[in-house]
Amino acid sequence: MPKSIIDLNATKENAINELNDFIDNRLHSYESSRNYDLGENNHQNVSLLSPYIRHRLITEQEVISSALKKFPLPKIEKFIQEVLWRTYWKGWLELRPRVWDDYKGNIRINNDIKQLLGKVLSYETDIDCFNVWTKELVETNYLHNHARMWYASIWIHTLKLPWEAGANLFLKHLLDGDPASNTLSWRWVAGIQTKNKSYLAKHWNIQKFTKNRINPPEEQFSTTQTNILYKEYLPQSVKYNESKIVDWSKAGLLMTCEDIDVLSCSKIPFPINNAYALPLCEEEYSVYADNVISFKENSLSNYSKLLSESIKSIEVNSSHDNQIESICSWAQNNKITEVVCLATPRGYMNDFINNLKIELDKKDIKFIKLYRDYDMKYWNLASASFFNFFKKAIKKM
Ligand SMILES: Cc1cc2nc3c(=O)[nH]c(=O)nc-3n(C[C@H](O)[C@H](O)[C@H](O)COP(=O)(O)OP(=O)(O)OC[C@H]3O[C@@H](n4cnc5c(N)ncnc54)[C@H](O)[C@@H]3O)c2cc1C
Repeated sequence: MPKSIIDLNATKENAINELNDFIDNRLHSYESSRNYDLGENNHQNVSLLSPYIRHRLITEQEVISSALKKFPLPKIEKFIQEVLWRTYWKGWLELRPRVWDDYKGNIRINNDIKQLLGKVLSYETDIDCFNVWTKELVETNYLHNHARMWYASIWIHTLKLPWEAGANLFLKHLLDGDPASNTLSWRWVAGIQTKNKSYLAKHWNIQKFTKNRINPPEEQFSTTQTNILYKEYLPQSVKYNESKIVDWSKAGLLMTCEDIDVLSCSKIPFPINNAYALPLCEEEYSVYADNVISFKENSLSNYSKLLSESIKSIEVNSSHDNQIESICSWAQNNKITEVVCLATPRGYMNDFINNLKIELDKKDIKFIKLYRDYDMKYWNLASASFFNFFKKAIKKM
């Protein structure tokens, strides 16, 4: 297997060590250095925490409060702002769930596109830097933020490939692949996230922010944006009424890779009796690359080992199919009448859970979503622009 950017055998301990190392040694220079893509195996100027944060092996709350323990906000505002970008994208998509459904419905690939995609994946397009980034993405499961922007721009505006197929490729290979951050960033580059605003990669910008490592010819990049139909999605609000009172004597916890660190959720009165660990849903096994699957499986399985004192019995899902039946059987065998889960934001797992709920309901088993205070505090603020969100979010910190 190719070498990923971080250890695929992820543990909570790794994640905390990486967080502390970043805060102690690199956070002080983050703002001035973060925009530079210094190349594969040389990304120490950014935190590389995204795979852990994506799966909530460490929570945004934990990252922000640990950083603020060491530095005053004005000194590290840029870093806090970046973490809040993630929160904003999550909230933005929660408020407009149709965006995820439309994206999923549009990942269709015709024969012409297949041919061009073949060239992309064998690193044979005419744009050398693009080939280098495809290789880095596939082999290390990571790309620097700036490279992601350049890559998506070339994909959409120069190669004229459909943005959904590019987003899908990222989601397949990135260890931090996230339905909100990824889909909405691709939409932003495409010019359909913020009306009349797209992102065009420029040769000088690549040269500057790779410190002359890459000097692509100017004429390789499109200077005009591809016209993609803009569709307005009006925000709803997130209703937290699924967070009902739980009768924990009859409840079982469903754990997923959408929010692994259950011990940090004050709404679960540990110790509890039963849990079921579901690292990936059926659909996800067909979406992600092997390294991403391993990362998710290891993260949840390693985390479950920390729970011996907090949960009496944990059943771990080991099958790629019949998952709904397995969860129903687990609930029935353990006389569980309420299945409780930390809220899964829009994405494949949430789609799975919507179907699971229907089957549980037929068996008179309730499904209860628990929303974290952090998400309840911030998601509904994402109704307009990021800067509008940030102004309000920072006041609540
Ligand atoms: C086209 C495109 C696709 C992207 N897809 C994803 C994705 O699938 N998953 C993902 O987590 N990020 C995505 N990003 C955002 C960003 O590139 C990564 O979060 C960042 O590069 C991760 O590296 P890091 O942990 O070293 O980030 P750092 O710079 O150290 O930032 C710290 C943390 O803040 C968050 N963050 C930073 N920048 C962003 C941002 N622009 N948007 C949202 N959160 C951010 C991440 O959780 C990150 O770990 C995408 C950006 C683009 C342009």
